[in-house]
Amino acid sequence: MRSLLELNKELKERTLTCTALVEDVFKRIQATDAKVKAYVSLMESQALEQAHKLDVRFDKGDALGPLAGIPLAVKDNICIKQTRTTCSSKMLEKYISPFTATSVQNCLDAGMIPIGKTNLDEFAMGSSTENSAFFTTRNPWHTDHAPGGSSGGSAATVAAAQVPVSLGSDTGGSIRQPASFCGVVGVKPTYGRVSRYGLVAFASSLDQIGTFSRSVEDAAAFLNVICGHDRHDATSLLAPVPDFTAALQGDVNGLRIAVPNYLLGDMIDDAVKERVIAALDRFKRMGATWDSVEMDSFKAAIATYYILAPAEASSNLARFDGVRYTYRAEGAQSLKEMFAKTRGEGFGPEVKRRIILGTYVLSSGYYDAFYLKAQKARTLIKEEFDRVFQDYDLVLNPTTATTAFKLGEKSGDPLQMYLSDIATIPANMAGLPAMSLPCGLSDGLPVGFQLTAKALDEETLLKAGYLYQKETAYHQALPEGIHGF
Ligand code: GLN
Repeated sequence: MRSLLELNKELKERTLTCTALVEDVFKRIQATDAKVKAYVSLMESQALEQAHKLDVRFDKGDALGPLAGIPLAVKDNICIKQTRTTCSSKMLEKYISPFTATSVQNCLDAGMIPIGKTNLDEFAMGSSTENSAFFTTRNPWHTDHAPGGSSGGSAATVAAAQVPVSLGSDTGGSIRQPASFCGVVGVKPTYGRVSRYGLVAFASSLDQIGTFSRSVEDAAAFLNVICGHDRHDATSLLAPVPDFTAALQGDVNGLRIAVPNYLLGDMIDDAVKERVIAALDRFKRMGATWDSVEMDSFKAAIATYYILAPAEASSNLARFDGVRYTYRAEGAQSLKEMFAKTRGEGFGPEVKRRIILGTYVLSSGYYDAFYLKAQKARTLIKEEFDRVFQDYDLVLNPTTATTAFKLGEKSGDPLQMYLSDIATIPANMAGLPAMSLPCGLSDGLPVGFQLTAKALDEETLLKAGYLYQKETAYHQALPEGIHGF
C-alpha cells in the first residue's frame, strides 16, 4: 500500500497523474459505495477539474504543495464554498456554504483534492451514523455492523480504500471511535491545533477537526497540512507547528505509558482487552514501560460530557430558526409558530434530545446543580491528566469497549449509545491530543487502542504510533475484496 508521500512522489515524477488518481477514486466509490454508503455528496466534476489543473502545473514543473494531487474526503459538517454542507440534517439539506473552512483551505493550498462530503450522525451527535437524517453508513468490514460515529462516513471511506485520507470532527470521540470500529487511524489533535472556522459548531469548547488515514505516517503528513493558527478562530493556538513527519524517528526506549486500570476492567470485552494487552506487550518489547494507574476521569467522563456538550449544543443550534438557514416549515401563522415548526420538523430526535437536555441544565435553578458542577468536574479531569503526565509520556487504553456493534443494536437506547465514548471523552474534556489505531481483529472486526499525550505533544503520540505500526502489520489489513492504494 502506498503512503501519501509515495503517491505524491509518483505524481511529481509523472508516473501517475492527478486525473488518473481522481478517476481511480471515483471508480472505487462506484464499486463499493452502494454497500458502504459513506457519501452524502460527491464532487466529481470539481475534483476532476482541479486534478486537470494540477496536472498542467505538474507538467510545467511548477513547485506544488506537499500533498499536491492527493484526494481527500470531508465530513459533511465542514464547509466548502459553493458546496452543500448538510450536517446530515434535514435542517441543512439544501444549505450551500458561502465560504470554505480553514482546514479545507489548508488542504487546497497544499494541492489536495476534495472529492466528496461524508455522512455523519446529525450535527455530529451519535456513535453509529444511524442518526443521519438521510441514511446509515455501513462498516466495510461487515455491512451489518455500524461504522461508528459521528464521523462514520469519513472512517468507512478510508477503511474501504475509496480515498487515502479524510477529515472528521471529534467532540467526544467522533474520530477515534469510528476509526477503531473501521480499523483505521484516527487523530484528534490538541484543542486549538486545527482551526474550527467553517466547522458547524456542536460543542465549541470540545469540538476539534482531525484526520483519518490508514497509517500514522499518513496522519503525520496530513496533520502538517491542516494544523496551524487561524485568526478566524479565536480559540486557535498560536503555538508553532512542528514537522510531524520529522518526529517519526528514533525509538520508544524509556517511553513511560500509563494504563487506566478501569479500562482494563469488566466492562471491556475480553477479546478487546486481550489485543490491547498484546499491544502493551509489544511496546514493552520495543523498550517502553507501562503501569496501570487509577484515573477517575474515565468514570466521570460520560456524566460530565452529557451536561456540557448538550448545554453548548443547545446554544449553538439556536441559530437554526427558519430565518437564517434554508429549511423553513410551511403554514405557520406566527413567527413563534414558524420557529417551533421549523425546529420540530428540521431536527431529528437525538438533536432534539440534546437541545432539551442542554436547555434544562442551563436553566435558572439547575445551572449550579448541573452545569457548574460539570465544569468543576471538567477541571478535575484536566488536573488528573496533568498529574499523570508528570510521571508518564502517554496514556494507553482500548478506544472502545467492544468491536463495532450491529446496526440497530443500540439505536433504540440512547444511554447505551452514550456509553460508546467512555474512553474517548476525557481527551476532549482536557483538550489533549489523542489517536486511535488498529491492533488486530476479533471475529473479523477491528480492535483499536487509543494513545493520549500532553497538550501539543502530538509528536510523541505519532512517533509511538508510527513505531508500533512499523513493528506490526495490523494497519495493512483490509476488508475482504478491498484493495489498497
Ligand atoms: N458520540 C458522542 C456524541 O454523541 C461524540 C460525538 C462527537 O464527538 N461529535 O455526542
